[in-house]
Amino acid sequence: MFLKNPKLLLKSSSFRIITWYTLFFVLSSLAINIYAYTVASSFIYDQSRKEIEEDIVELAEIYQEDGLEGVEDDVDDDEPFLIRLRNQNSNLFLHIPEDWSDFNMEQVEKAGYLKDKQWKYLKGSGSENEFEITSLTTSDGSTLQFCQRISERENLLKTIRKVYIIAIIPIVLLAYLGGIFVADRALNPIRQLINTLNSIVGSGKIDVRVPVHQTDKLHEELISLFNTMLEKIEALVNGMRNVLDNVAHDLRTPMTRFRGTAETALQSGDNPDTLREALSDCVEESERILIMLNTLMDVSEAETGAMKLDPEEMNVGPLIEDVVGLYGYVAEEKGVSVYTGLPEELYLTADRNWIRQVLANLVDNAIKYTPAGGRVDVEACRREQEVVITVKDTGVGVSPEELDKIWERLYRGDKSRSQRGLGLGLSLVRAIVGAHRGYVKVSSQPGAGSVFSVYLPV
Ligand code: ADP
Repeated sequence: MFLKNPKLLLKSSSFRIITWYTLFFVLSSLAINIYAYTVASSFIYDQSRKEIEEDIVELAEIYQEDGLEGVEDDVDDDEPFLIRLRNQNSNLFLHIPEDWSDFNMEQVEKAGYLKDKQWKYLKGSGSENEFEITSLTTSDGSTLQFCQRISERENLLKTIRKVYIIAIIPIVLLAYLGGIFVADRALNPIRQLINTLNSIVGSGKIDVRVPVHQTDKLHEELISLFNTMLEKIEALVNGMRNVLDNVAHDLRTPMTRFRGTAETALQSGDNPDTLREALSDCVEESERILIMLNTLMDVSEAETGAMKLDPEEMNVGPLIEDVVGLYGYVAEEKGVSVYTGLPEELYLTADRNWIRQVLANLVDNAIKYTPAGGRVDVEACRREQEVVITVKDTGVGVSPEELDKIWERLYRGDKSRSQRGLGLGLSLVRAIVGAHRGYVKVSSQPGAGSVFSVYLPV
């Protein structure tokens, strides 16, 4: 792919990581090499000049005290450097090493006399003939000049330079391999994410997960977040499938009844009473379907955060009394007593209409699932930063296996089939309370009763 389109290679992340890593590694190594070479060469230079600089000072003192004879006496025949002196009367070579026969004296003449402690490079005829020259002015104005052969020192420095330059090759190689390793480690999780996404896009199945290798905390976090996101999406998709299945299933019964009623009415002739009755049944059925669809929409909106809330500060007690009052007749009819235990003032900021719906659903259920002679207690109190509303009944209760399921959409308990209902009351309660950043709890004993509690932040 990269061979066909080199632009893709330049854009590829691994190519860029490898290049940057190699560049960084090579440049840092170069900087270290240059620094090390500078330190080594300045040390070698200093060492090779130090002796001469001391000798020239010593010879200048002797010249000062004992004159030219003193200097001539002091200079040994085997001194390895050239010594020259210039004073008002003469300009003479005091010593020339024996093996410097091929040395071109004119160069020294041309170099002239330098300032004190200054050094000048002189190139001889062969590569072995490299020299440097320095001078010192004595107090009487004469100048002493020393010249030394530096081929050995220069060869040593050349060797050091060569070693450093050759060392760059394995450094580049190492840097490149390091770059490949780093790029592989850095991009592996992304590659795995891409593979997983490709497999999801290809197969449409979201039950695949990216394997988590414990290599890097950040990568591990990214992958486990990605996996958690997949889990949530899977749960949502499955939830939606279940809801759709349930809706389709639950719509079938009223729709069949709807059609049956209409068909029977059509076949029954022109009797206006029968037709009126059939139409009224149809309206009732369609009403039921509408309520179910609207409630499903409300639950979805509340769960996805799209529910429109109109919060206001309200006293919870009167609202509860109001709802309980609405169910007074139903409770009386059924022979269930409803009691309230409420403080005079218990304020809460929430959407009044939706909280009324929550209370209505809980009280309705409590009365519905409590046989005649039973009792329902609705209480409210404040606990720290929460308002807790409990609806307690002495009804049929919920079995432990069903306790989690009763909050699901369209779930109806086995014992509840005989009762009216859509299986949406509690899911709407939980969704509304969740939209208010609260939560719900239930505890129940089959045959003895249930306690439904709603916790809402003040
Ligand atoms: P519905 O009452 O329409 O069936 P809900 O969502 O309100 O649907 O309740 C779901 C299920 O929870 C009910 O079918 C019933 O089995 C159980 N349930 C709810 N409230 C009570 C209660 N107070 N006592 C016993 N069971 C209850």
